[in-house]
Amino acid sequence: MKFVVDLMLGNLARWLRILGYDTVYGVKDDEELLKISKEQKRILITSDRKLARKAKDVVFIKNGLSIEEQLVLLKKTLNLKIPNEPQLRCPNCNALLRKAKKEEIEELKEMIKRENKKWKPTQNVYFCENCKKFYWEGSHWKNMKKVLLKVAESK
Ligand SMILES: [Zn+2]
Repeated sequence: MKFVVDLMLGNLARWLRILGYDTVYGVKDDEELLKISKEQKRILITSDRKLARKAKDVVFIKNGLSIEEQLVLLKKTLNLKIPNEPQLRCPNCNALLRKAKKEEIEELKEMIKRENKKWKPTQNVYFCENCKKFYWEGSHWKNMKKVLLKVAESK
């Protein structure tokens, strides 16, 4: 299952990537969104009713839903699988993450020290080649897991 998400739903786009779904985001033009959806067989997710009417594979999400409610809606309408753990796709750019190398983790620890930040990366550190960004299982990760669990448990 692949997605193209309209500009109004940036948070959802990030979450879909966190869940491991290949998600295109950042396209402004409606016609372009429809074209990408059709040509790349991506399900269009939009809050624009007019746009939703023009698309074939589409989920309409009304304004004002929380991220949990949005994910529950996708779970119900598309039978979207919700993994218990965040998956390995960069929320920023959609690229697949890889495990960070030992020396990169050392570098990261140095950087954190220099910036006087309090994060403590555990052994599971991931890296996005595209954004040159690290991701690891910190408190943010735990919060994401909580949301995923709630969505997974919803009926
Ligand atoms: Zn990235």
